[in-house]
Amino acid sequence: MNLPESFPPLSSSARDVCCFSCGADNHVPVDAVTLHCTRCSKPIDLSDYSIDGMSNRKIQTYGEVTIGIRGKYAGSKLKAGRLIVLGALEAQFECDELVVGKFALVTSEGTARALYVLTGGKVKLPGTFRLAEAHIYGELEVEALKAEGILAVYKGGSLVSDIEASSVKVERGAYFEGNIVVIPPPKPEIPVEAPPAAELPADEEKIVPAEETLSGQA
Ligand SMILES: [Zn+2]
Repeated sequence: MNLPESFPPLSSSARDVCCFSCGADNHVPVDAVTLHCTRCSKPIDLSDYSIDGMSNRKIQTYGEVTIGIRGKYAGSKLKAGRLIVLGALEAQFECDELVVGKFALVTSEGTARALYVLTGGKVKLPGTFRLAEAHIYGELEVEALKAEGILAVYKGGSLVSDIEASSVKVERGAYFEGNIVVIPPPKPEIPVEAPPAAELPADEEKIVPAEETLSGQA
């Protein structure tokens, strides 16, 4: 399968990942093949997996996992950097990017930062999906989609869902059915700075005059 150019190999850029065992943040240098947690020393999997038959094996990786057209995954919660579903996914999942293609069948709930439904893909996702962004080139039906960022349906794509997003784009030639709520984009995190010294109350102002204290108690 040819992925659009917007999917560079995950190893092409440096990134930060959380250890699967202790949750500590770890920095992954460009093209790293193996990684051990700096806090607990346990290995953090960065490898890619391809599932072509029926699989139940436990997979927790920051690499790419592809469930092929004849593949079916029904094991414990699947964790991946990028999860490409062309076959059947029957287990819960947690990934950075969820890519669904033609003949994909997703019957379980999960989380993703970004969702891509490729041309020819026809998917029905269960439940409500919360993500940062969604790009629909194929057909998607889901109860609700909540995107902090952009939600786009491209020419030839179809989306049936109630949506909430800070930016909605429906191209000419795309189909959309559902309710739209446009929400403000998330505020960038502003570092907390100490107020300037001049605004700090002077020490003597904090002391309650004795008179006032007495009158207050009377
Ligand atoms: Zn760790």
